[in-house]
Amino acid sequence: MKSKAENYITVEFPSRSANEGFARGVVACFAAQMDPTLNELEDIKTVVSEAVTNAIVHAYPATMGKVILKARICPGSVLEITVKDHGKGIPDVEKARQPMYTTGGEERSGMGFTIMESFMDKLAVKSTPGRGTTVVMRKKIATRLKKQG
Ligand code: ATP
Ligand code: MG
Repeated sequence: MKSKAENYITVEFPSRSANEGFARGVVACFAAQMDPTLNELEDIKTVVSEAVTNAIVHAYPATMGKVILKARICPGSVLEITVKDHGKGIPDVEKARQPMYTTGGEERSGMGFTIMESFMDKLAVKSTPGRGTTVVMRKKIATRLKKQG
């Protein structure tokens, strides 16, 4: 069931590689209000980068297409990140999630999904060949005692 967001953003951009860094930054800025540790912030930036890069290089290999990025703060200090494309889709998601599975040839290591899975608490991948892919990731951000001002 979809939990009610306390705050959220939605950003849409074309699948240009220049937007990978933008996407990373935008989610990091948004997540800053959750007072994450530097490590948590690094993890968040890394997974956004992996998911957005997948949309850029795999979903739209020869064309430009839309990438939709959402971030939501859910009750219990949970950050939910969604990266969605309307690209070519993944025929076998289970196989694609295996470590070192890649269709990207020499320059890809096939570790993107494995990284997303290990840095986040939850990873869900939905895909329909010819229609696109949606990746949803969730991570609980540890609440820390705030300094008394
Ligand atoms: P790396 O992320 O290490 O550079 P990779 O992108 O191939 O390599 P993963 O990110 O784990 O590895 O993705 C595995 C495979 O799943 C990809 O090679 C590709 O075939 C497929 N895939 C992943 N994301 C998408 C997407 N958004 N659209 C279409 N195919 C995808
Ligand atoms: Mg990848």
